[in-house]
Amino acid sequence: MKNDRNGLALQLRAVAQAIGEQVAGPNASDVDSSSRFPTEAVDAMREAGLLRSMIAVDEGGLGASLDDVADAITELGRWCSSSGMILAMHSIQVACLVRHGDSDTMGAYRRKVAEEGLLLASATTEVGIGGDVRSSSCAVELEVDSFHLRKQAPVISYGAYADAIFATARRTPDSAPNDQVLVICEKEGYTLEQTTEWNVLGFRGTSSSGFVLDAEGPSDLVFSTPYSDISAQTMLPVSHILWSSLWLGMAAEADARARRFVQNAARKTPGVVPANGMRLAELAITFQQLHDIVHGARSRFREADVDPDLGRAIGYATSMNSLKVAASGLLVEVIQKALLICGMAGYANGSPFSLGRLLRDAYGAQLMVNNDRINANNAQLLLVQRER
Ligand SMILES: Cc1cc2nc3c(=O)[nH]c(=O)nc-3n(C[C@H](O)[C@H](O)[C@H](O)COP(=O)(O)OP(=O)(O)OC[C@H]3O[C@@H](n4cnc5c(N)ncnc54)[C@H](O)[C@@H]3O)c2cc1C
Repeated sequence: MKNDRNGLALQLRAVAQAIGEQVAGPNASDVDSSSRFPTEAVDAMREAGLLRSMIAVDEGGLGASLDDVADAITELGRWCSSSGMILAMHSIQVACLVRHGDSDTMGAYRRKVAEEGLLLASATTEVGIGGDVRSSSCAVELEVDSFHLRKQAPVISYGAYADAIFATARRTPDSAPNDQVLVICEKEGYTLEQTTEWNVLGFRGTSSSGFVLDAEGPSDLVFSTPYSDISAQTMLPVSHILWSSLWLGMAAEADARARRFVQNAARKTPGVVPANGMRLAELAITFQQLHDIVHGARSRFREADVDPDLGRAIGYATSMNSLKVAASGLLVEVIQKALLICGMAGYANGSPFSLGRLLRDAYGAQLMVNNDRINANNAQLLLVQRER
């Protein structure tokens, strides 16, 4: 792909569409049934430049914006939720590296990611702590110019296939649980001891087994910006935007299948609106809600990028949390509505209207950082929020 900012959004979307149609989509069923990493789709993404798209042009990337990448992820989500989720999770780490990696070492690492097409994973949750990602029990041990970190990670998506894992940990062994840093653990510096199998309901291609991560590396690969800032400014809003952009693509596919189903029925009885046409109208409302909250959040993120005060406001944090809770619920609603419309044709595996895999994948959205935890966090924030 050309390093041409003009029309980049369209190019990325077209590339994602082509990868979806030619690679990710045709393999999605096998990826799901075998619970296997979608190697061919990730190779195609790497080849097409999607893995380096958010890195600046002068560092070897394409200079894509969050919106550009979000659109590409939405497109991929229509074909293979797991492939789209892998691109989303990788891009979240790239966004942290781009927005907070301000040292020469981090700049060199970005160039390496771009040049070698590295795939970045994350270990933010921890055994014993669950989905409370703003708390760590493991700690970074710093020597003069190197670090050591040992983390029991319940889930590291595509951990066995990644080239680096971005892990959270306490700043030092004496630090409080919420005094965290983000550490880039490079593959050549870590061992992974697998502790759990990934045999789950949905997102089966993300290959998200549990591991004990034992990592060493240069101390320059510990971000100097505190994780509290990285989380508030980037990790949390970007995660929720890219995840929900993926869910929008999954919902769009369910909506399209339901629409085709009703349109097929309508062709058989010209001049009569099929009975499930009303359900399609209801589905359109739910889909519109999902679409609009995702695009509303993307617009707020753009505004916060030029107005840091907005990004620091409590209302911004609660809105980004609300996005995740609402979008993950609406996704399931859309697919359930599509299933009622398509009936047995949606319930059956292998039909052009099958919705089983999409629905199984959709249920993971509410758990990847449990919605209860996010609501509990918002409940605390709302106690002190003045502005809206
Ligand atoms: C597809 C997928 C991919 C993932 N990939 C990764 C990854 O790559 N890296 C990573 O680090 N993590 C990843 N996760 C997230 C991670 O697996 C979970 O968030 C984490 O393991 C916690 O899981 P849990 O649901 O068992 O625990 P908890 O978060 O503890 O939730 C269990 C239950 O406890 C309740 N609960 C506990 N404490 C509270 C509280 N304070 N407030 C409200 N409710 C509470 C919850 O409501 C829930 O009912 C992924 C998850 C999924 C689904």
